[in-house]
Amino acid sequence: MSEFEIIKRYFHWESRDPTVVVGNGDDGALVQVPAGFELAVAVDTSNSGVHFPSTTPAHAVGYKSLAVNISDMAAMGATARWFTLSLSLPEVDEAWLRDFSSGLKSLAESEHLSLIGGDTTRGPLSISVQILGLVPQGTRLLRLNAQVGDVVCVTGFLGDAAAGLALVQERLSLPEAEAQYCIKRLNYPSARTVVVDFLIQHAHACIDISDGLLSEAWHLARQSGVTIELDANSLPYSPALKLLPLEQRQAFALTGGDDYELLFTLPAEKIGLLDQYFSQIHLPVTILGLIKEAKPAVRVRGAENFQTSGYDHFKY
Ligand code: ADP
Ligand code: MG
Repeated sequence: MSEFEIIKRYFHWESRDPTVVVGNGDDGALVQVPAGFELAVAVDTSNSGVHFPSTTPAHAVGYKSLAVNISDMAAMGATARWFTLSLSLPEVDEAWLRDFSSGLKSLAESEHLSLIGGDTTRGPLSISVQILGLVPQGTRLLRLNAQVGDVVCVTGFLGDAAAGLALVQERLSLPEAEAQYCIKRLNYPSARTVVVDFLIQHAHACIDISDGLLSEAWHLARQSGVTIELDANSLPYSPALKLLPLEQRQAFALTGGDDYELLFTLPAEKIGLLDQYFSQIHLPVTILGLIKEAKPAVRVRGAENFQTSGYDHFKY
């Protein structure tokens, strides 16, 4: 199969998106950015053996490559609209391409995203998705705007994906149903697009949790110039993680990567709005701590032995 046949068969989808003026097929794409919006752009690369175990099913690799980018958009208060795909393949494996394309497409369709182009090359398996989204002017949600007195909140449960990775790597065992749940959370993360409306109205600052809670809290603290104080006893655990010893689930929640939940800060007077909104969308939300003072730091009460470092590609 030639490069062009691969693109035509697996990555050239019928699009009825009127905002795509020129899609896949020319030297570049053209999209319409409506008046009153800003364009949000992010890119994330997934390398086999680094970002996902080489045994990960192709369908999950396709799904997750896009999901992690949608998560970045959500963390900016943006709605993802278009994406490009840069794919490096060691060989043409049609079964792999079919499943990868189907995983990618299923999420693109459910999130109403158009694939508008890309690049296809030979090399070690690597998937780079660039995503483009829209933010209504003036509603952007940044890391640097946390204010002293805000409460620090997180969506969903923490540590599931890290447990999923430990299960896949046979460093951990759990009963079958709980193990399947954690592996699903690792391979099929849910970008929290459902909370964007709430966040752009009420939150001060936001970041998505890709490299672990402590590491992301530190980015937020550093960029906002504030101290984040978290309470380890408030960490939200799924029923699966509750089966693990406390130390182990704390380690997964605080330092494990790949959860793709959103960490955000909210002015204290808005706490009352949390329950109503989140119960409506059936997503847990937890108040984890407070913004204490205008000095960059992260403290965790109840788990002082944990370092504030997440995953750093060049450190480990
Ligand atoms: P160029 O040589 O101009 O860079 P390419 O030969 O790389 O063009 O790609 C031809 C067309 O196919 C372009 O429109 C490009 O955006 C699209 N394309 C290439 N690879 C992919 C891919 N993996 N997914 C979607 N579109 C792709
Ligand atoms: Mg090219």
